[in-house]
Amino acid sequence: MGDTLSTPSYVGRFAPSPSGPLHFGSLVAALASYLDAHAHRGKWLVRMEDIDPPREHPKAADLILKALDVYGLHWDDSVLFQSDRSEAYDEVLDTLLRAEKLYPCTCTRKKLAGLNGVYPGYCRHQRVIPSQPHGLRLLCSNQVMQFQDRIQGDQSFDLSSLGDFVLRRKDGLYAYQLAVCVDDHFQGVTHIVRGVDILDSTPRQLYLQSQLHYPHPVYAHVPVITQNNGNKLSKQNHAPAIPLNDPRPLIIKALRAFGLKPEPDLLMNSVEEILSWGIKNWSTRHMAGKKQILQDSL
Ligand code: GLU
Ligand code: ZN
Repeated sequence: MGDTLSTPSYVGRFAPSPSGPLHFGSLVAALASYLDAHAHRGKWLVRMEDIDPPREHPKAADLILKALDVYGLHWDDSVLFQSDRSEAYDEVLDTLLRAEKLYPCTCTRKKLAGLNGVYPGYCRHQRVIPSQPHGLRLLCSNQVMQFQDRIQGDQSFDLSSLGDFVLRRKDGLYAYQLAVCVDDHFQGVTHIVRGVDILDSTPRQLYLQSQLHYPHPVYAHVPVITQNNGNKLSKQNHAPAIPLNDPRPLIIKALRAFGLKPEPDLLMNSVEEILSWGIKNWSTRHMAGKKQILQDSL
């Protein structure tokens, strides 16, 4: 197996947003991070990224934790809820503001329409915090961010083409990019395994980590599961919740998504035995460079 499999201080995590129950696509992400952590004899943490109440469903966090438990994906330590972490986020925002690495942005949604999410820096020179509602953006340099992804290979992103990104939104909510970096650091996460749909968040997170003098985790972005029409399985595309009565067929289907080749009779075993098989046979090699896997091909 890979050369990193004897990392003694490995800490991995699964970090779902509670906008709905787990579907097959999110199970694949959860299982990949779980198997990678256990194959390295590391810790596997679960963090609930519940910082966006308008997009959340009140029962989703409980449903996700229940599903992980039924699927045998037992986490180490207690679950960290980002909704409890405001103080830590405020402290980091304050540090960045004092270092003049953040600036207030008062642009309206209308002004930013049609820019494809790339902010052209209209408020870059604004230093005084205005009394009207404003977001806080990270002042980004023009550097090219490079990293080696364990599955997707060499990556290179020009930060200037991503634009200064938001760390606190105009509606007062903390941005994902801020919370994820602060908490990955707080929890001592060394290895991040997640869906390739957020690959372009990684250069932003690497940049923010360096601004905060945090060490960089190692990244592996797994392919996303797609439907026949090419759409990725997601809550927006109404992917069904994973069944809780018998987890075994879907775990085996997820193992096949990783390019592993379980024998048909693995299905006769218990969930624990199937997961042990997955840990023993885990490898990222078969997914190299793959961005999508068609659900119907599994
Ligand atoms: N909470 C994010 C999501 O559900 C994942 C964040 C991450 O793994 O960095 O898409
Ligand atoms: Zn602005």
